[in-house]
Amino acid sequence: MKEKIICSTCGTYYPADEVPGLCVICSDERQYIPETGQSWTTPKDLHRKHSIKLNKLHERLYEIEINPIFAIGQRALLVLSEGGNVLWDCIPLLDELTVQFIKSKGGLKAIAFSHPHYYSNMNEWAEVFDCPVYIHDNDAAHIVEKGPQIHLWQGDELALWEGIKILLIGGHFEGSSILHVPFLSKEGTILCGDTLFLSPSKKHFSVLRSYPNRIPLAQPEMRKVKQRFDSIPFDSFYGYIKTQNLHENVKQVFAESMKKYFS
Ligand SMILES: [Zn+2]
Ligand SMILES: [Zn+2]
Repeated sequence: MKEKIICSTCGTYYPADEVPGLCVICSDERQYIPETGQSWTTPKDLHRKHSIKLNKLHERLYEIEINPIFAIGQRALLVLSEGGNVLWDCIPLLDELTVQFIKSKGGLKAIAFSHPHYYSNMNEWAEVFDCPVYIHDNDAAHIVEKGPQIHLWQGDELALWEGIKILLIGGHFEGSSILHVPFLSKEGTILCGDTLFLSPSKKHFSVLRSYPNRIPLAQPEMRKVKQRFDSIPFDSFYGYIKTQNLHENVKQVFAESMKKYFS
């Protein structure tokens, strides 16, 4: 693999000969350059200091995390499907044990993304598993390394197989999307990235343009996000980190949360 350099704040990989002065993802108003300045690391260093943890959440759902936490600290989710497995979002590390585990479950038929904060080393994952990467066309400008497996999709939804769909929501990013999986719960499960942010109390969903910078969404965009979720059936939610799982009263929590934005 061609040598890569990684932004320590967001985990985005850059080709070593195309590293900007400042990470373009962190320079955007939705992220930040730390007060201590831009810092970079390498895959070698990341492998030395971190490992990958896999946790089973359901017979057909696994959580993949970096241990100890690195950069934004998001998890990736592996959905097992008879039609082919789907990886939802990425973590900025891939090791041999993880590759072997995923291959033992049938490999990957697709990688799909919620938004640009989690693109990480997506081209490496796509190359190893020889599968396409689905990114909404609205976010094309945020792809820093355009690999051959990246497929830009357009419109409101992209149907995969076994009823799995990628649904465009918007809000946090113009292309912010969720994965809707019908077979993990009765009404349907949403894998959400941070398109919705479940509070630690598990009683409130917030939707922001920027979570670290606390930048709200304009009202018309917020209304669009609400209407979109109102039209989608779901009773189970998995957010961007492990503490954001919710399986009870999910629609009610969402409805109560939205009242705070519009009353
Ligand atoms: Zn960055
Ligand atoms: Zn984000």
